[in-house]
Amino acid sequence: MKTIGLLGGMSWESTATYYRLLNELTRERLGGLHSATCVLYSVDFAEVERLQAAGEWEAAGRLLADAARAVEAAGAELLLICTNTMHKVADQVAGAVSVPLLHLADATAGAVLAAGVTRVGLLGTAFTMEQDFYRDRLASHGLDVLVPDAPGRALVHRVIYEELCVGVVREESRAAYRGVIADLVAAGAEGVILGCTEIELLVGADDSPVPVFPTTRIHAEAAVTAAL
Ligand code: GLU
Repeated sequence: MKTIGLLGGMSWESTATYYRLLNELTRERLGGLHSATCVLYSVDFAEVERLQAAGEWEAAGRLLADAARAVEAAGAELLLICTNTMHKVADQVAGAVSVPLLHLADATAGAVLAAGVTRVGLLGTAFTMEQDFYRDRLASHGLDVLVPDAPGRALVHRVIYEELCVGVVREESRAAYRGVIADLVAAGAEGVILGCTEIELLVGADDSPVPVFPTTRIHAEAAVTAAL
């Protein structure tokens, strides 16, 4: 099995899910006491969030590129950036190492298309929903991407940073997310991407009338497939 390199801590709440899923999926496929061979570099999310809010993406990319080099030096043979948002600097990170980067949007687009969905809603941070880097990557696979209206985007973003990234899961926020999902479906979404790695801590298939695509699980599945 190849060693999987993880750039995590963004937030650690979702990185913990990555770690559990990588090990569970490896055990499911190999049986017995098998578990995932992996190397994790977990950053201080407060520093990353400060750079995001300041628009200092080049500096954020340098921070993750340094982490990627450390993970490669520690033996990683493939690399995951364990957050959708920080794929904004995916090229800078990929350029710092010689091992392949398993891009989260590519893995997600593959799962969406495999489900027969082409018109898909996207929930994530404001960066992910409003900027081009993630939507364009999905669109390059032939997907038609819908995002919530401005109040919906503000709500989804706020819950991620103020609640989910600090381990708070509130029933009111789950109900609010259900409303945002319902609006996306009313606008024509045939499926909804949970395009932030913490969102699947709050909502899942039971909260949506159409299929949901949980990006942490999709990314972990793609990593185990690539590693075995
Ligand atoms: N984990 C989140 C994501 O998948 C948000 C945290 C971050 O800004 O990296 O986008």
